[in-house]
Amino acid sequence: MTIHINAAFDGGNIRLVAIEGDRVDLEIVRDRESDFFQWFYFRVAGARGRQLTFRIVNAGESAYPFGWPGYKTRASTDRHAWRMIDTRYEGGVLSFDYRLDAELAWFAYFAPYTMEMHDALVARTALAPGVVHRQLGTSLDGQAIDYFRIGSGDKPVWLYARQHPGESMAEWWMDGALAWLTSEAAAPLLAKATVHVVPNMNPDGTRRGHLRTNAAGVNLNREWHAPSAERSPEVLCVRNAMDETGVAFAIDVHGDEAIPANFIAGYEGIPNWTEDHGAKFYEFGRRLAAHTPDFQVEKGYEKASAGNANLSMSTNQLAQRFGAVSVTLEMPFKDHDPNADAEFGWSPDRSQALAVACLEVLTGMIDEL
Ligand code: ZN
Repeated sequence: MTIHINAAFDGGNIRLVAIEGDRVDLEIVRDRESDFFQWFYFRVAGARGRQLTFRIVNAGESAYPFGWPGYKTRASTDRHAWRMIDTRYEGGVLSFDYRLDAELAWFAYFAPYTMEMHDALVARTALAPGVVHRQLGTSLDGQAIDYFRIGSGDKPVWLYARQHPGESMAEWWMDGALAWLTSEAAAPLLAKATVHVVPNMNPDGTRRGHLRTNAAGVNLNREWHAPSAERSPEVLCVRNAMDETGVAFAIDVHGDEAIPANFIAGYEGIPNWTEDHGAKFYEFGRRLAAHTPDFQVEKGYEKASAGNANLSMSTNQLAQRFGAVSVTLEMPFKDHDPNADAEFGWSPDRSQALAVACLEVLTGMIDEL
């Protein structure tokens, strides 16, 4: 039997370097027109009953090599349950052993959320009562930028995710958010807020198996000060829609390679910063930490100093442009260590549940925004 490594599918990313005996050497492919790479997703066939050692030999040159220590690869035989497997990182090489007890196995940086899954999410959400769908624009590859409007309240809330396509937990979060927003539970929020949702900002990167950029190698979260049709039409069409509605509260959903916890980042350092504006952001974090064991406020990014916010990033741009309480939510590729799960780590189910917790906390704060 011949071992077959394949990533020529929606969201796939790997290049076979060599197979020698039971050792399979692989490389992650760079984002097109970019040096970023870290997302991988591939399948193995033709190895039932064999124990193989997989080695990603260029892991040390990836975008965030400090993300590998303590990380565990996700493996699946049904593409539904993605379990963590023991993973080593030594000498710039990420490696793991796996015994194939099934005909096929899939391996990924995190449980994938492909464009095919995105299309299914869009279809079922669009059929829910009271939901308005619009195609805000198209990506450089011509894919739709999907948008939903739900509710009719006064406060404009924007939820958007996956500017960085390799952060698939961000669309799992959206999957949970949209299920809740189209349920009875959302009625109190939707009486006071109109919720605008872009579940995937970067369909081209998602389908191409990118980590961080669109089809032109552009990091969309460095474009919000000056998006353009040539480089970043995905951001341009969403920011134009925001200009029409205004933004009172926003969550930009991401994944973080290194920090083993959920956390949020704010907009310290914007020119219009005030303590009162910032206090609402910190209050959201405190209430979320009190609401769920899957959130904390101790670990996170360093804050920008006064006047030094990067306005090309969406969270800062929305806080400055609209006075929004503007939140970057980061979920781990590893696990939320304060409430760890030894089998699955941070996972699709927990990403979905965290979305519900975020929206429940928002409901309790909506009159203060
Ligand atoms: Zn990100």
